[in-house]
Amino acid sequence: MSGRMAGKCVICSAPSGAGKTTIVHHLLQAGLGLAFSISATSRPRRPNEVDGRDYYFLDQEEFLQRVHAGAFLEWEEVYPGRYYGTLRSELERIWTGGHHAIFDVDVKGGMQLKKTFGGNALALFIRPPSLETLAERLVKRGTETEASLKVRLEKATIELQAGPRFDAVVVNDDLQRACHEAEERAREFLNG
Ligand code: ADP
Ligand code: 5GP
Repeated sequence: MSGRMAGKCVICSAPSGAGKTTIVHHLLQAGLGLAFSISATSRPRRPNEVDGRDYYFLDQEEFLQRVHAGAFLEWEEVYPGRYYGTLRSELERIWTGGHHAIFDVDVKGGMQLKKTFGGNALALFIRPPSLETLAERLVKRGTETEASLKVRLEKATIELQAGPRFDAVVVNDDLQRACHEAEERAREFLNG
């Protein structure tokens, strides 16, 4: 990263269904000067998603071409055949625009970004109250098939062990409380 881009970052990681997207939306509206880092992905777009707002939707070939071109700060095959990655160009866009970046990435990606940005990043781990609650939320969200639900829950069981490696753990029990806690942590970090 070049020296003129001196913004900070907030990383939100959690098992799928823990409430990252919901909490990230809250933080974006909290007047903290944050802008969302739009990831690239090869997974199909959901009906409520917009290309260039929620993700940059690429096919697998386009995604891998960008990998080879060195376009990603980090990237991963988060689920079999489903690639996700943080584009270097997003950081440039956000920091040159005078904002701090916020990432919604999986647990491995979050740890990778923390390693890259060190003290310039606040890594938040959003934890569901339990695996059962996580499963209920994913079912209610209505975005998963039985098979993709199973894969997400298996991955979640492993990811939940990573909480202590983050700067702070926010338990998403009551959503309002969790949003408030995440906001206070971010405010303290960004203003400090
Ligand atoms: P993620 O981005 O981590 O996959 P989402 O933000 O999509 O998770 O949340 C998963 C589902 O759970 C969504 O339908 C969301 O509305 C719901 N949800 C999030 N937080 C809570 C909460 N504290 N209590 C109940 N439902 C919640
Ligand atoms: P979803 O398919 O539910 O949008 O996302 C699945 C998982 O991929 C989530 O945990 C989400 O945070 C993660 N994810 C989204 N973008 C990225 C990214 O750029 N890098 C990594 N490593 N994970 C990402």
